[in-house]
Amino acid sequence: LSTNDSKNSTTHDKFLDGLLPSGFDESTCLSRYQSHLYRKPSNHKPSPYLISKLRNYEEFHKRCGPNSRAYKIAMQKITTPSSKTHHHYHHHNDNVDAAKCKYLVWTPVNGLGNRMISIAAAFLFAVLTDRVLLVRFEADMHGLFCEPFHGSTWILPMNSPFWNHENVETYQSIVLAKVDKARNLTLDQLLLPSVLFINLQHTKEDPEMFFHCDHNQEALKKVNVLIVQSDQYFVPSLFMTPSFSHDMNKMFPEKDAVFHHVGRYLFHPSNEAWGQISKFYDTYLAKADERIGLQIRVFRPTFTPQQAVMDLLLSCATSNKILPEVDTQNPAGTTASKVGRNNHTLKAVVVASLYPEYGENLRSMYLKGPTITGEVIRVYQPSHEEKQKFKDNVHNIKALVDMYLLSLCDVLVTSSLSTFGYVAQGFGGLKPWLLYGLVSNETHFPPCLRDLSPEPCYHFPPQHQCNGNSKEHFAASFPHMFECKDYYRGVKLG
Ligand code: GDP
Repeated sequence: LSTNDSKNSTTHDKFLDGLLPSGFDESTCLSRYQSHLYRKPSNHKPSPYLISKLRNYEEFHKRCGPNSRAYKIAMQKITTPSSKTHHHYHHHNDNVDAAKCKYLVWTPVNGLGNRMISIAAAFLFAVLTDRVLLVRFEADMHGLFCEPFHGSTWILPMNSPFWNHENVETYQSIVLAKVDKARNLTLDQLLLPSVLFINLQHTKEDPEMFFHCDHNQEALKKVNVLIVQSDQYFVPSLFMTPSFSHDMNKMFPEKDAVFHHVGRYLFHPSNEAWGQISKFYDTYLAKADERIGLQIRVFRPTFTPQQAVMDLLLSCATSNKILPEVDTQNPAGTTASKVGRNNHTLKAVVVASLYPEYGENLRSMYLKGPTITGEVIRVYQPSHEEKQKFKDNVHNIKALVDMYLLSLCDVLVTSSLSTFGYVAQGFGGLKPWLLYGLVSNETHFPPCLRDLSPEPCYHFPPQHQCNGNSKEHFAASFPHMFECKDYYRGVKLG
């Protein structure tokens, strides 16, 4: 399906089956209503219940979000709890509204993939608990995404006191005190502050947060502003929480498409990023018969020789017929013409990696001769940043462009444990081939495994039941929840 075909097609729905609201100014965010021209129609339709929850949330965000009167009043009350001043200046209705406005402030940690999967989880948590999601996007996140909520913003206003959580009480300290004290794990609602910081990131001490427990969620309802810091896709824990599970199941009857829907709903590349994505696609990918995405993430580059990674990648791609071998016996292409006389299938390969060598090696390999199948292989690598950079929004835009281009492929090979790959597979609704995670220069067989779903893996799920008893693995206790193929401790939906 080339872009030109699909541009004329009427079967494509620019609102993604009702996932996206209408009414946005298209020119300020071209990707929002153009993405359907670049992606095959999804196999997954959002449920009517999800769509109604999203439309309700958008209303709510507009009513309580930044720029609303309710926001000003709510913030005044929260930051000066005892003051009754100013209230008489507002209409009665504003006060009623403001009383219903609660907030979830998301705080970034780690790379863009980690950030995106945890924002998606935080958004669902906000929807379930009637909170307005506000994201702390500093300069390094500027220019990446369009606003997802019509008529408002999701960016924490510059003048908010919640850019900083130094003096904010932590959920963890409260939970730990409870765990130590007589194993009474119930948080005391009355003692909770109006602003609370929750760290849902994996830490070295790895304390149990009991975040998936109803009694804690019940207590948290009273907190006006929750500041959450996380790099995790904690969506599976929302299914584990009894008081959320009904809503979650109704919103997502297809458990393997949660991030697929939420990701495509929230993350629309800015015009700058979209310009790069669409130009690259139109130039190199649109005309191909098949698009292959290869994501090569090396977590310990000094200990992992590039040749070992390359061997693993090629072994995965050729043994699973993702890419053909080069016919070195007959460089003139005699075999190819015998085997696949008419097979001139054009496969475009997108290589996403920090290192230029992977794209270069693959490209020069296919220049050596024809392939044994007769297929024509073209290799493209949009960027090679050499290393992960922090506090750099241009670097982050390149990462977004790579993730997005991978998601537009028909077949995807990703690297174990990489949230960067998770975003691509989730956007695309693709079950990737997961490359074995090399730690040094070992060889491994099989070199890759077909993943069970496009969902991200939740690397560090809870390890205790709500009564404090430890729990080996939650996957077995819930339908549609599995042990991740790339990390034994993780759970994922499928
Ligand atoms: P993870 O560490 O693999 O789980 O993925 P993250 O996205 O959280 O962090 C890795 C970061 O390194 C990315 O956000 C990018 O900044 C950078 N990076 C890693 N691999 C690539 C790549 O293939 N392309 C680009 N452009 N950046 C990458």
